[in-house]
Amino acid sequence: MKITIVLYNTLSQPHTLKRRAIIYRPEEQFAADLDAKDPLRSFRDRFLIPHTPAGKEYIYFCGNSLGLQPRTVRNALLQELEDWGNLGVEGHFHAKNPWMPYHELLAASTARLVGANVDEVVVMNSLTVNLHLMMVSFYRPTTERYKILIESNAFPSDQYAVQSQLAYHGYDPAEALIELQPRAGESFLHTDDIEALLDREGQHIALILLGGVNYLSGQAFDMKRITRAGHSHGCVVGFDLAHAAGNLRMELHTWDVDFAVWCSYKYLNAGPGAVGGCFIHQRHNTNTSLPRFAGWWGHNKEIRFLMDSTFEPAAGADGWQLSNAPVLSMSALRASMEIFDEAGMDALQAKRVLLTGYLEFLLDQIPGNAVTIITPRDTAQRGAQLSLRLAGDGKKIFGALTENGIMCDWREPDVVRVAPVPLYNTFLEVHAFAQRFQTIIRSHQL
Ligand SMILES: *Cc1c(COP(=O)(O)O)cnc(C)c1O
Repeated sequence: MKITIVLYNTLSQPHTLKRRAIIYRPEEQFAADLDAKDPLRSFRDRFLIPHTPAGKEYIYFCGNSLGLQPRTVRNALLQELEDWGNLGVEGHFHAKNPWMPYHELLAASTARLVGANVDEVVVMNSLTVNLHLMMVSFYRPTTERYKILIESNAFPSDQYAVQSQLAYHGYDPAEALIELQPRAGESFLHTDDIEALLDREGQHIALILLGGVNYLSGQAFDMKRITRAGHSHGCVVGFDLAHAAGNLRMELHTWDVDFAVWCSYKYLNAGPGAVGGCFIHQRHNTNTSLPRFAGWWGHNKEIRFLMDSTFEPAAGADGWQLSNAPVLSMSALRASMEIFDEAGMDALQAKRVLLTGYLEFLLDQIPGNAVTIITPRDTAQRGAQLSLRLAGDGKKIFGALTENGIMCDWREPDVVRVAPVPLYNTFLEVHAFAQRFQTIIRSHQL
């Protein structure tokens, strides 16, 4: 009883979280009590939960890969289809939500999401495209300073993007790309080591590009400290927030991050291939001398339809847009962002810390060394996801998880990523996951 009171207080006062210890218990009743006291518990009903072939709800711990569909998405999409059907081209001005300024409907909620001013964010394109556009503007190599710093296990698309940018500027990635390696025997990075590397090599580094949360280890980086360290050495600092947007509470503006990009189909639940997002700090976003790849939607909107051939960038992040808004994709994102606005990142973060902490607690009860958590134990250095290294035939164990109604994902050669998402996952699901997991591991050890 005492413990559930702690949870209630914690969630209503998220900032006191660190000072309050929670004592987890392994009994199922404990998980049920946590769910009963969860102020966000009703949000699960806003989502469609996939079902197993036998018709049962999956335990869906894959929201870090593709978030679930909010029930409101269908009508949001239908509204645009209807307006298109009824109005044709006139929908640009006369749709219920006119398509012409459609991206502007997302600016306020997006700014809240990442801790930015409204003119510092824009929703456009997809993640990797935005990353390239940002590097066009912010990777400005000189003879002295031309290197790019990334994590050694960065997501492949980011690796390809930076390698191709280096090559495009005439550098050999083998020499100009620095990859941060964990210490021997470890699976994530120390901020101290990043700072030490910058002390040694900072004057040659043009761009630091890290994930807000690494997709593989689940490590959340100290973006504020890394940005400060990078700037003190004259580097530009950008973040790929694919696994951080909708997962971590962020203050990109205050942290003085130069730019950031993200996708909206992971924790942001906007559907497969959903439109991406982009942050450009105010310090840069009215700087018309920065090189940029331009398109008509980045042009000053007051004079866009004069169809003049001279590009005049719109003020703010909007000035980096290329094309007119993908309205169907954006309508799904709008439906999803309404839910984020209602729940709020403070409450989501508070529940996320408890939910993932509970998963960690239960996994630690599994005897032997069949499972190793490779995500940091420090809750400030992770988001919702725990990455588990499996001993033995991990792929078989992963297959058995799926057969037992659990959706998570497998990363070669031996990692299972598990992400209980605070918007729609429950403490009882975490409990059931741990029980099934332990049973499967035991049966595979025999
Ligand atoms: C998911 C993810 C991507 C995917 O890029 P798209 O351009 O959206 O296909 C890229 N980088 C990271 C770090 C990711 O987690």
